[in-house]
Amino acid sequence: MNIIIKDVSIVTMNENNDIIKNGYIVINQEKIKEVGYGEYNGDCKDYKIINGKNSCVMPGLVNCHTHAAMTLLRGYGEGLPLMKWLNEKIWPMEAKFREEHIRVGAKLAIIEMIRTGTTTFNDMYFFQKEVLEVAQEFNIRAVLGTPIIGDAWEEQLKSAVQLNDFVKEYSKNEDMIKTMIAPHAPYTLSKEALIRVAEIAKQQYIGVHIHISETQDEVDMIKSKYDLTPTEFLLSTGILDNKVVGAHCVHMTDNDIDILRDKEVSVAYNPQSNMKLASGVARIAEMLDNGVNVCLGTDGTSSNNNLNMFEEMETGALLQKLWYKDTTKLNGSDMLNIGTINGAKALGFQKLGRIEEGYKADLVMIDMNRPNMIPRYDIDSNIVFAASGNEVHTVIINGEIVLYNGEFLNIDEEKVLYESNKFCENLI
Ligand SMILES: [Zn+2]
Repeated sequence: MNIIIKDVSIVTMNENNDIIKNGYIVINQEKIKEVGYGEYNGDCKDYKIINGKNSCVMPGLVNCHTHAAMTLLRGYGEGLPLMKWLNEKIWPMEAKFREEHIRVGAKLAIIEMIRTGTTTFNDMYFFQKEVLEVAQEFNIRAVLGTPIIGDAWEEQLKSAVQLNDFVKEYSKNEDMIKTMIAPHAPYTLSKEALIRVAEIAKQQYIGVHIHISETQDEVDMIKSKYDLTPTEFLLSTGILDNKVVGAHCVHMTDNDIDILRDKEVSVAYNPQSNMKLASGVARIAEMLDNGVNVCLGTDGTSSNNNLNMFEEMETGALLQKLWYKDTTKLNGSDMLNIGTINGAKALGFQKLGRIEEGYKADLVMIDMNRPNMIPRYDIDSNIVFAASGNEVHTVIINGEIVLYNGEFLNIDEEKVLYESNKFCENLI
């Protein structure tokens, strides 16, 4: 679609984090053609005009670690100790999940994500062909990770490679959907399995999405088995020779952080999940200072309990300030970088995460005429610390308007909400 957004504030997230107080954006098909200050004086013929008065536009948020279809388990088995919760509640329910569960859960998740400004997500869950179809139907950018966990890893690894071949062959647009191999974690796979995953990922040029050092228990387990930290252990298996997104990375030594930097591992920070599961606080500010690419994720909704990246940005920044007892850690623009461009880099999308000429048109419009968004001394800070996500009114993904003035254009939201509720009534 060809679109011009006029008379709008623009949070560009470009190299200098420029903010244009009043300007315009021209979108040609799936790309940004022009970004400028003041009024647009060019030809408007064949363009849809969006009036941006009282709005600001920012790049779409990139959720770098989630388990989308876990929306079906939101609020289920709350408040239990972690291992009891997983063993007695979550894992037995997940074992019952089939294709239809994933389809319903993913639809609900994607609607929630788009409504709160997420335009790309990195998923790790079962039956990814279902997620692929829903993501294509709803027009959201997605990275599909087939999980590899436990003893059946050989079969699962085959499926992950098959999915990658399938996506390459059938995906309407390779830039919209891609895959990663998702070995669950160092403690849920044998060394042999991890070595094999590392080899296959390398041969097939597929990225790796893995949980690393989420809890102290995991670190203790790996330490007693291999006398290494989980990061050192993964280094020894060759996993880190691939393009890796490491989720959580809560319990890291100085040496671990050096390894992440040297191996160019992207860290997906999940502050709300880490707080809710009482896992700990990741050393994010130190990782950034050491040159690690940090991105942001919500994790699944059973440990969050939503997919709202605005909340995640706020919590993530507040937690770092408190942890280091230092108000200068993670200000608004740092957090916006983590939520947008750093995520795009982590997932290997070229020209994504900025509002700049030639970049993909994944844009989110926010209503600034809300009591919590006035005054506008510091728009970055308003977005991170004052917005709730409900201010998002229009979302453009790959140059297509998906949400317009609060209404989905091609998604029957009411039907999805009704069906999800009905489906969950019979689930438990
Ligand atoms: Zn996770």
